[in-house]
Amino acid sequence: MLSVIIPAHNEQDNAPAAASAISRLLSSHNIDYELIFIDDGSTDRTWLRLTQLAASDEHIKAIALSRNFGKEAAMFAGLENASGDACAVMDCDLQHPPETLLEMYKVWKNDPTIDVVEAKKNDRGEENRVYRAFANLFYKIMNNSTRLDMSDASDFKLLDRRAVDALLRMPERLTFFRAMSSWVGFNSAVVYFDVAERTSGKSKFNTRASIKYAITSITSFTSAPMQIVTVLGVITFVIALIFGINTLVNKFTGRSAEGFPTVILLQLITSAIIMFSLGIIGYYLAKIYEEIKQRPRYIISEKLNFDNDRKEKENRENSRDIRPSEKEG
Ligand code: UDP
Ligand code: MG
Repeated sequence: MLSVIIPAHNEQDNAPAAASAISRLLSSHNIDYELIFIDDGSTDRTWLRLTQLAASDEHIKAIALSRNFGKEAAMFAGLENASGDACAVMDCDLQHPPETLLEMYKVWKNDPTIDVVEAKKNDRGEENRVYRAFANLFYKIMNNSTRLDMSDASDFKLLDRRAVDALLRMPERLTFFRAMSSWVGFNSAVVYFDVAERTSGKSKFNTRASIKYAITSITSFTSAPMQIVTVLGVITFVIALIFGINTLVNKFTGRSAEGFPTVILLQLITSAIIMFSLGIIGYYLAKIYEEIKQRPRYIISEKLNFDNDRKEKENRENSRDIRPSEKEG
C-alpha cells in the first residue's frame, strides 16, 4: 500500500481538489493507497473540508494538529501515522503533480533495490533571481557541510517503509525532512518534475519564513557555521599580528604610531566579530535548549478514519486515567 502524506495549512480549496486528483489517478491504476491529510492548525475551513472528505471516502484519513506546528512537524505527524509499504510526501496545492507521484511509485515498485525516490525540480517555477541566488547559497552550504547532495531537492519524496522507519527512529525535535531523508542513506532514484502554479490560495513561505526555514535547517543539520567563529578568530589573530609587528617596528624606529583612527577601527571590527560569533554560538545554544526540553514535535487534537484510533478511543473510555494528550504525545 502507498501512503500519501499531505500537510495542509489553510488549504480549504486545495484540499478537496488534491484529494480528488490524487485518488482518481491512483485508483485508475489499481494502486492500494491511503491519503493522510494533516491539518496544521488552519484558521479557515480546511478541517471542515477534511471531515467531509474523510466521511465520504475511507481512503482519506485526516489528522488535526492542536495548533500550527509548521510543515516539518506536519510531515512527521503524517509519517508516524502512515501504515503504507511506501510513504510519499507532497504539497496540498498541487504544485507537486500527481503524475509525478505515479512515476515515483512505479520506480519504487519496479526496482526493489530502490528505497528512496526523490522528485527534483526541473525549473524552479516562479522564482526571482535574488531568491534563486539565496537558494543556491543555501544548498551550497548544506552540500558542503553535510556531504549530501541536496541541490534542487524538495519535500516531494517517496520512501520505502525501511527508510521511513529509519527516519522515525531519529530522535531530534527540530527536523529537516529534506536532509534527514538523504541522511538515512539507502539507494535512491531521482524523478524530475516541473513545479506547477499554485491552484489557489497563496504560499505560506514568504521571504521571512523562507529565511527562518533556511537558518533553522542549516543549524539543525550542521554545525558548519560554528566553524565561522574559528575562522574569524584566525583572521583577526593574523590581522592583530601584522598590526602588532607594525607598531613595534614603528616604535623602535622612532616613528611612533599616531594612528588613533586605527585603534578605533580595530576596536569596532573586533567587537563586531565577537558579537557576530557570540550570536552564532547563542543560536546553537538555543537549539540545544529546544532539543533538550524533549517536547513532542507536534500535538494531535483529532484523527479521522484511523482504524486503531477507534480501538484507542474504546480503551480510553475503559480506562479514564489515561488522558488522550498523554497517549498522543
Ligand atoms: N504547510 C503546512 N504548514 C505550514 C505551512 C505550510 O502544512 O505552516 C503546507 C502547505 O499547506 C502546503 C505545503 O506545506 O501543502 C507547502 O506550502 P506552500 O505551498 O505555502 O509553500 P511553497 O510551495 O510556496 O514553497
Ligand atoms: Mg506551494
